Amino acid sequence: MPSPNLDLDRFASRTEVLPAATKIVATLGPACEDRFGEMIDAGMSVGRLNFSHGNEVDHRRRVAKLREAAAKRRVAIGILADIQGPKMRMGKLDPATGGSRQLVAGEEVRLEESEASVGDVIPVNIAGFLAGVAPGHRILLADAAAELVTTTVEGRFVHARVRRAGLIGDKKGVHLPDSQLSVDLPTEQDKQHISLAVELGLDMLGISFVSRAEEIERIRQLAPGMLMVAKIERQAALSNLKSILQAADGVMVARGDLGVECKLELLPLAQKQIISEALKAGKFSITATEMLESMVHSSRPTRAEVTDVANAVLDGTDALMLSAETAVGEHPVEAVEAMSRISRAIESSSRYHDLPRVRFRDAEPTFSNATALAAAQAAEALGIRKIICFTESGNTVRLLSRYRAEAEIIALTPSERTLHGMTILSHVTPMLCKQEPSLEEMLHAAQLLLLERGVVLQGEEVIFVAGVPPGVSRSTNVMKLHRIGEMTSMH
Ligand code: ATP
Ligand code: MG
Ligand code: MG
Repeated sequence: MPSPNLDLDRFASRTEVLPAATKIVATLGPACEDRFGEMIDAGMSVGRLNFSHGNEVDHRRRVAKLREAAAKRRVAIGILADIQGPKMRMGKLDPATGGSRQLVAGEEVRLEESEASVGDVIPVNIAGFLAGVAPGHRILLADAAAELVTTTVEGRFVHARVRRAGLIGDKKGVHLPDSQLSVDLPTEQDKQHISLAVELGLDMLGISFVSRAEEIERIRQLAPGMLMVAKIERQAALSNLKSILQAADGVMVARGDLGVECKLELLPLAQKQIISEALKAGKFSITATEMLESMVHSSRPTRAEVTDVANAVLDGTDALMLSAETAVGEHPVEAVEAMSRISRAIESSSRYHDLPRVRFRDAEPTFSNATALAAAQAAEALGIRKIICFTESGNTVRLLSRYRAEAEIIALTPSERTLHGMTILSHVTPMLCKQEPSLEEMLHAAQLLLLERGVVLQGEEVIFVAGVPPGVSRSTNVMKLHRIGEMTSMH
């Protein structure tokens, strides 16, 4: 029960901006560059830089502006840097074609591995194309405008039949959903982008076109300390989902390219599978692409988009992503607001609360995991709305987050890196705190900080989760039921 000396003003000011539990990732671009503060107020938790667009000067400027806006508001905002990966493209058609050609259904065509071809040969500018393609494999040209099926591979040519007619052209995108191509990830360009991300101290790295766990391990060595986000957008990545989840810190349901590589109508099932496997593996998930696409021009989302965002929340995604809506759209702030409103409405519904909860993760039979589960269950049983968790690495908070308790998880850490890494986790509000020498001092300092920031009220019941001795990573072993303002001494 609130005590008489409760500071209603402070509390009121916070409840107004209380963000949704599901996090919002917004792509930073020319359209929102001067509106980062408003986007944070509207509910953005993570900014995304897409290294496929814009240049280094743009990225540096946007990082500085976003950090300034976050610091002004005293909130933790994470930054996700998205690297392009091996984007596969066609070469140049015979100049006589004028750079494009209409393929007709049933037509037999020849393709070769080259930057430019002559005559009627179709050039595919992918190293290893010839070796990677086998009879029966689909070849999607011009971002799936046309679909071919490989018939034979002979000498330097791949012979294929056109299954779906379409217009193809110079340097258009190519997808090979059935072929295991040993494309090198990271590419030379990716390596440059990774060093920029490391230099700027960014928090997460989105890795495009991952197909195997080894690629993530290789990239992690180039970006120590950054969280690895595997973008699931290839058929091969779906097939290797379990091992990719082991190697990565989180996954992105990258529906844009995934919709080209797998059957479009199977996308909803792929999304559900990726999110639920991520939850089981104790890794976070981001659902991306076209979530509020009409808001690039319109100030209101369509019914279908509202339903799509709601369903992703019900699927259990940690975060929802905006791409063109914020990067180049006409209503970047409204898009964040709309997403936040939809999430909050769903999160406060009984359908959301009644969703099956993930089970104790047997793969992590640790004190941390058991303490996390105990805290989630105690909060549920007692109707306690805040779990205050001290964390060094963020590990216990990640485990707590996946139980999707009704309580808000206030994650206190002395590490800036951990602070920013937790911005993507559902139900988690990360805050920076000072390192204290003992558990008593931690609890005391935390109460002062949270009261001062209007996060808790005098007399409010909370659950503290911590580790003793303090300062040791992976030692969470204490859960304390506590009333704010009471003695924190454990003796
Ligand atoms: P990815 O496959 O990594 O998602 P994408 O090309 O789909 O790459 P998004 O970040 O999803 O890019 O953004 C959607 C669209 O918004 C892009 O195709 C591009 O036209 C535009 N866009 C995104 N970021 C920028 C930017 N920084 N500058 C200019 N245009 C951008
Ligand atoms: Mg993509
Ligand atoms: Mg995209």
